[in-house]
Amino acid sequence: MTTTSAPPAVSVPLLDLKKQYATLKDEILRVTGEVYESQGFILGPRVEAFEKAIAAYTGAKHAIGMSSGTDSQLAVMMALGIGPGDDVVTSPYTFFASAGAVARVGARPVFVDIDPETFNLDPSKLERALTAKTKLIQPVHLYGQCADMDPIRDVAKRKGIPVLEDACQSLGSAYKGVKAGALGDSCAFSFFPSKNLGGFGDGGMVTTSDDALAATLRAMRMHGETSRYHHKFVGGNFRLDALQAAVLHVKLPHLDGWAGARRANAKEIERRYLESGGLPFERGGLKFPREAAGRHHVFNQFVVRVGGGRRDSLKEFLEKRAIGAAIYYPVPLHLQECFASLGGKAGDFPESERAAKETLALPVFPELTEAQKAFLAATLAEFSRGSL
Ligand SMILES: *Cc1c(COP(=O)(O)O)cnc(C)c1O
Repeated sequence: MTTTSAPPAVSVPLLDLKKQYATLKDEILRVTGEVYESQGFILGPRVEAFEKAIAAYTGAKHAIGMSSGTDSQLAVMMALGIGPGDDVVTSPYTFFASAGAVARVGARPVFVDIDPETFNLDPSKLERALTAKTKLIQPVHLYGQCADMDPIRDVAKRKGIPVLEDACQSLGSAYKGVKAGALGDSCAFSFFPSKNLGGFGDGGMVTTSDDALAATLRAMRMHGETSRYHHKFVGGNFRLDALQAAVLHVKLPHLDGWAGARRANAKEIERRYLESGGLPFERGGLKFPREAAGRHHVFNQFVVRVGGGRRDSLKEFLEKRAIGAAIYYPVPLHLQECFASLGGKAGDFPESERAAKETLALPVFPELTEAQKAFLAATLAEFSRGSL
C-alpha cells in the first residue's frame, strides 16, 4: 500500500446547494422575477412548459406536475382507485413515503425484501408476495439506480397488476437504455431540494404514457375537478407551483452534467480510498456501491456499507473531522411503529434489516473539490485500517 503524505484536512458537507445556486443565480432570479410580475402562481404556462420538458426528457407521453413526490404517489393510487382491502407491494428499505402513501389511501403495504447489491426490490421474491388483493406493484429506484424492471414487469404483466415506479431519487437514471419515468405504467418523481433536480421547496411530477390515467391525474390534483366546479372524483390540492416549475426548468438542462460529476466523484473517491490503503469490506473496510448490468446510476446518494456493527462509529469518525454523512434509512418500514398493526417483526426482511444497520451515505455532490475528495477518501481509508 502507498504511504503518500496525508491530504490536508478540509470540511466536506454532505451536500452544498449554495455552490449550485451561485452558478445559476442570475437566470433563476430572472425567471422567478417574471413569475412575480405575472402574479400567476398556480399551474399555468411555466408548469405546462416544464411538464413538456420532463415528458421529453423521460420519454413518457405525459407529465403532470404535482406538489411533492409523496403527493405524486398518493395521486396515482387515488387515480387507480386503490383503497381499503387492497394491497400494494413495495420495498421495506426506502423513504417512508413509499409505504406512507399506501396507508393514506387505506390500503395495506406489503413488503418484498431487497437485493443486497442494489438495495432495490428483489424480483425473485416478488411473485410469492402477490395475492388477489394486490392492486399495484411499486418498485423504488433507490439512491439513483433503477430496480431490475424486466422481471418485475414480467410478473406484473402476467398477473395484470400495474407498476408505479418510485423514482423520487432517480430522475435521469436508466434501465437498458430506457429512462426512469418510462419503465412502468406510471412514475413518481420528487423535486425536494436534496434530489438531483431540486426545487426551492417541495415539488413533484407523475409521468405516464396512459392517456386516461393522465387525464384522471390532472383532475386529481385539482380536487377531482373535470370542469370548473364539477367534481368527478374526490381528489386533493396536489398542484406544482409556477415558481418551482420556473426554477426547475432552469436547472433541468444541467441535470445530466451534474449526474456525470456525481458518477465521476463516486469512482474517484473509491479509487483514492484504495490508493490510500483502504481495506476491502471482507477485511473490515468499506463496500462501495456498484452499478448493476444495464443500469445508469445517477448517485442521488453515494451509499457505502461497513460491517461488524461499526457503521455508527464511522459516522462519528467522519463528523469529528467535519465530514458530513447520513443514515438512509435506520429503520426498515416493516418495523416502524405506525405499521405495527401489519404485524412486521425483526427477521422478516433480513437484507433490508442488514442494510439499515450497515449503510452510510457520503458526500458525492457535483461541486466537491479535489481537496475534499482526497481528504474524504483518506479519512475513510484511515478508519478502515484503524478498525482492524
Ligand atoms: C423523496 C422521496 C419520496 C417523497 O418525495 P417528497 O417530494 O419528499 O414528498 C418518496 N420516495 C422516495 C424513495 C424518496 O426518496
